Amino acid sequence: MNLILFGPPAAGKGTQAKRLVERRGMVQLSTGDMLRAAVASGSALGHQVEDILRRGDLVTDDIVIGLIEERLPELDAHGGGIFDGFPRTVAQAEALDAMLARRDHRIDLVIRLKVDDDALRRRIAGRFAQSGRPDDNPVAYEQRLVAYNKDTAPLLPYYQAHNKLIEVDGMASVEAVAAAIDAAIDGPRF
Ligand code: AMP
Repeated sequence: MNLILFGPPAAGKGTQAKRLVERRGMVQLSTGDMLRAAVASGSALGHQVEDILRRGDLVTDDIVIGLIEERLPELDAHGGGIFDGFPRTVAQAEALDAMLARRDHRIDLVIRLKVDDDALRRRIAGRFAQSGRPDDNPVAYEQRLVAYNKDTAPLLPYYQAHNKLIEVDGMASVEAVAAAIDAAIDGPRF
């Protein structure tokens, strides 16, 4: 089972992905985590993307597609993966479908966490103090929301057309969201 946790920044994708890793042994593939690790390591890639992340813009499709491709061999050992923060553009989604098909895998489910923008802004204000992430500051966060609405939200019709999309109320408690995700995973396929 391979699934995408889909939603705007701070919708709760990372939290829910970590729970699924603990409960189901799936592997979490978070391009945000991979890019932050590259920045922290001081690698050439890290230097290349550092300012982009700080501004809240998207890095190029080639970079994140390459990062994901390197990690796809892990899917088999874990009985599937949770894509968290990837894909974020239609080009990334198409590349993911092609890369998975070459490995005899596919996206089974796309779970959209729906949270309204004002609730997201309130959440991020609280998170900034704890996370210390430069892109959680209010200015960068607005840019991340802009990028989501412009480049990522257009993926919803793509997955809807493929009958893979399930919507979950991301405004509910962490536990209630987790229960809805479990029901979606364990429920009948389309
Ligand atoms: P995240 O932790 O998923 O919110 O990602 C943090 C930042 O990493 C984003 O604001 C982008 O700058 C970059 N990033 C992560 N995933 C992607 C992606 N799939 N495509 C482009 N940029 C990404």
